Amino acid sequence: MGLLEEEVAVFRRRTPRSARVFDIARRYTPFGVHSNYRHVDPYPLYVSRARGTSIWDADGHRYLDFSMAFGAVVVGHANPVVVRAVREQAARGSIFGFEGADTYRLARVLCERFRLDRVKLSVTGMDATQFAVRFARAFTGRSRVLKFEGCYHGSHDSLLVSIKPSREREGDPRRPTAVPASKGLVPELAGRALVAPFNDLEATEAIARGAAGDLAAIILEPIPMNMGVVLPAPGFLEGLRRLADELGAILIFDEVKTGAKFYDGAEGLFHVHPDLKVFGKGLAGGYPLAAVGGRADVMEAVVPGVISHAGTYNSNPLGVAAGLATLTKVLTRQKMRAAGRLGDALAKGYADVVEDRKVPALVQGLGMSGTIHFTRQPVVDWRSFQSVDVAKWWGYYTAMMNRGVIPMATGPDEQWTVSTAHTRRDVDRHVEVFDEVAKEIARFEGAMEMVEAI
Ligand code: PMP
Repeated sequence: MGLLEEEVAVFRRRTPRSARVFDIARRYTPFGVHSNYRHVDPYPLYVSRARGTSIWDADGHRYLDFSMAFGAVVVGHANPVVVRAVREQAARGSIFGFEGADTYRLARVLCERFRLDRVKLSVTGMDATQFAVRFARAFTGRSRVLKFEGCYHGSHDSLLVSIKPSREREGDPRRPTAVPASKGLVPELAGRALVAPFNDLEATEAIARGAAGDLAAIILEPIPMNMGVVLPAPGFLEGLRRLADELGAILIFDEVKTGAKFYDGAEGLFHVHPDLKVFGKGLAGGYPLAAVGGRADVMEAVVPGVISHAGTYNSNPLGVAAGLATLTKVLTRQKMRAAGRLGDALAKGYADVVEDRKVPALVQGLGMSGTIHFTRQPVVDWRSFQSVDVAKWWGYYTAMMNRGVIPMATGPDEQWTVSTAHTRRDVDRHVEVFDEVAKEIARFEGAMEMVEAI
């Protein structure tokens, strides 16, 4: 038996209520979850409540949370400042069917903070990236969109391509095959995607130039966070900026994850100015809100009756109130800097344990987010991510959960989020538990080596 099997057996013993909820839930909902990413073996953890950096499961166990809802609550669960803003707004109405008289305040904050000329609010990362692509296509009169292998932009046809392609289907690393990531996509639409390797500017240029006259947009996560945490190589983002200019394509930064993890997003870090930016997740402290914004000429082209941008819950007052409180009162430069420092301390703690315990892994991250990759090869793109030992990651994750720490969001392609609510004690506790788990990992590594020696 390996670490994973051993820990799954413990998980089953610890979480009988989650197992029971699963049995009931799946009678009404396939796999018992409403987002496929929550489905895990042997069954999902069901949660009853959360506050600050704690989360309680259906069995009443308390966990120290570093998933923070896949990075959607960088302000901490049930942040009192955000709760107050939402409560006050709820008493004044949750939705009007008209534009709220205060919505412009949030739009102004977004424009000033993220250097956008104009902005449009919506609800999810998925809808906002879909709008961004539509705006780019409408503005340029072209249809093809270049995306990067391993980047995720939401579950819609245009971009649900080459998210996690298998070795059998992915093709040439420098000219990847566009692999649909779901059945049921409209082939004509998914087929308009061009797929390039992240961090390989030369290959990207060749692929983009091949479609030159029909390239509407280049979209990317400036720091890919759907294959762990990958940093753009020096010059890569600048190169994409030049390439988009050369080809007349719209450069889109998908900042759904990065937007609320760095004070002024990726541009503040790398000083590259894209044409459009997309935000979601942490923008409103855990309430549904997303945004797309950028160049005035592109955004002003979204003329009613000409380019569709619509949604009943777009700029919903609860999300707007939460967003305004989050950005102006919680995610201040100072608080984010402090959380970033704690994140760096967590990464350092991990790196020390990895070295001391000789864990076959490396730690990658920056500020509030980081991850452990169970590989010895730096992860710079999808192909290098594929060297990650996924089973080992699940063993680590389950072992951490069984010891009361949710170490990061669910999946070896995810990362931890150190929120503004985390303390040094939380980080120290996380590292302490990781050290215990690392001993377990080392125990099984030792066993493996003996088997090989025999
Ligand atoms: N873009 C990125 C970079 C994401 O990580 C995600 C979600 N993980 C999305 C877009 C989609 O956001 P949502 O789940 O809110 O639709």
